[in-house]
Amino acid sequence: MKTPVGRFAPSPSGRMHLGNIYTALLSWLSVKSRGGSWILRIEDLDPQRSKIEYARLIEDDLHWLGLEWDEGGLDGVGPNGPYVQSRRHHLYEEALERLKASGLCYPCSCTRADILATQAPHESDGRVVYKGTCRPPVMPSPYMDRPGAAVRLMVPDEDISFIDRIKGPQTVNLARHCGDFIVRRGDGAWSYQLAVVVDDALMGVTEVMRGDDLLLSAAQQIYLYRLLGFDSPEFAHVPLVCNEQGIRLSKRDRSLSMEYLREHHTPEEVLGIAAHRASLIPSPFPISLSALLQLKV
Ligand SMILES: [Zn+2]
Repeated sequence: MKTPVGRFAPSPSGRMHLGNIYTALLSWLSVKSRGGSWILRIEDLDPQRSKIEYARLIEDDLHWLGLEWDEGGLDGVGPNGPYVQSRRHHLYEEALERLKASGLCYPCSCTRADILATQAPHESDGRVVYKGTCRPPVMPSPYMDRPGAAVRLMVPDEDISFIDRIKGPQTVNLARHCGDFIVRRGDGAWSYQLAVVVDDALMGVTEVMRGDDLLLSAAQQIYLYRLLGFDSPEFAHVPLVCNEQGIRLSKRDRSLSMEYLREHHTPEEVLGIAAHRASLIPSPFPISLSALLQLKV
């Protein structure tokens, strides 16, 4: 059996909070309990929100908790580096060229308002489905470069099925779920979907554990894995941690930020709080990583 390779891929847009720690801990335990390795990747593709100071704090907080990574980080060197997305443009570029060569990409200059104007009233759950406005009449078709336009990828009108380790069997039809999606924005920014697939595939990641807000986007990623000729990893989407009001934790919930947690608790206490949230232990008592590993999660 292949040695499991997991990863933690935070965005350095603020101090981590309990929700991030919970996901990191579950991912770390999942691979470490089976003798696997764990990669830290910094997802800083949004230059407006990403700051190197936050990336340093993420590393410092993980060290403080004892969640050590085998590969990656800001200064990480290794067979699959660099491990910082803003230094990996050449790899995304190469993948994009392969997608374009498949004849399934086309330029799109639609604004958000244009796209919203095409939505039917029943699609009011916040999801926006691109209707293929700019898609050439015959596909596949050679990519006609148009500077300043986004690059969209045509999706098939068919079900994509996968088994999520936590959420069970999933079936998503991308044509109905999101429509043809953007792989590179008009301003040149890479889409999350493309970058995450290229990174996980080239870094040899075998299991992607992350928050369940990304559950359905796994189908877009499976489609990209297929087009790029990569094997899909196993997916495991964990429930997001909510505050007492039942609202998803954000970087604004100060009392659950790592800054506050480190001022008021020991590492074992914070691990206990996260492990309790994950229902690994019956109450939030202090616990070490080695004791958590014995629980065989
Ligand atoms: Zn368009």
